[in-house]
Amino acid sequence: MKKVWLDAGHGGTDSGALGNNLREKDITLQLVLHARAYLEHNYSVDVQVTRSTDVFVSLSDRANRANAWGADIFVSMHINAGSGTGFETYRYPSQEGSQSSLLQKELHTEILTIMRKFGTIADRGLKTANYAVLRETNMPAVLTENLFIDTTADAEKLKNATFLREVGEAHARGIAKYLNLPSNQVTFYTIQSGDTFYSTAKKYNITVQQLQ
Ligand SMILES: [Zn+2]
Repeated sequence: MKKVWLDAGHGGTDSGALGNNLREKDITLQLVLHARAYLEHNYSVDVQVTRSTDVFVSLSDRANRANAWGADIFVSMHINAGSGTGFETYRYPSQEGSQSSLLQKELHTEILTIMRKFGTIADRGLKTANYAVLRETNMPAVLTENLFIDTTADAEKLKNATFLREVGEAHARGIAKYLNLPSNQVTFYTIQSGDTFYSTAKKYNITVQQLQ
């Protein structure tokens, strides 16, 4: 089973960015919990999180724990600040076509599409940066910056519980697309003449072992 590491930015004594009566650490935790719930409900996948409560974890510990667990991918969720507006994603500086770049594309497209159901969202682009959690992780890793906490129009969306759930779930779907995760929804299928284990497994994107 594929192993997904979800990283909620900041926590505990580190509030992250502040603005409009919001704290970055609270929103990133909500996004991660929504993403985890959606992944576990819809796919066969092993999910691990840096934190599921309001605690401090150092940047190196985040990367080290994901490395030690043998995560297949690492996705870190943040809220931007600095009076801009919109959505952007980061990978460690690497060429187009690298695994991190492919993961970034899937996440970026999926999340931006969902955000735009809620109004105009500026696409700030697919970027690279030498961030510790991107540099120190051994697997494809992407960090998302989900709107600006100190910009009123962005903050209004970040106060909307439905927006946070849908954006968290969009992270999950981007991850599922990149990893090609098998669905875990129970399907009833009547074996017909001519079916083989192989053809039936292929049809539902599962392994022959899972089918048996
Ligand atoms: Zn942050």
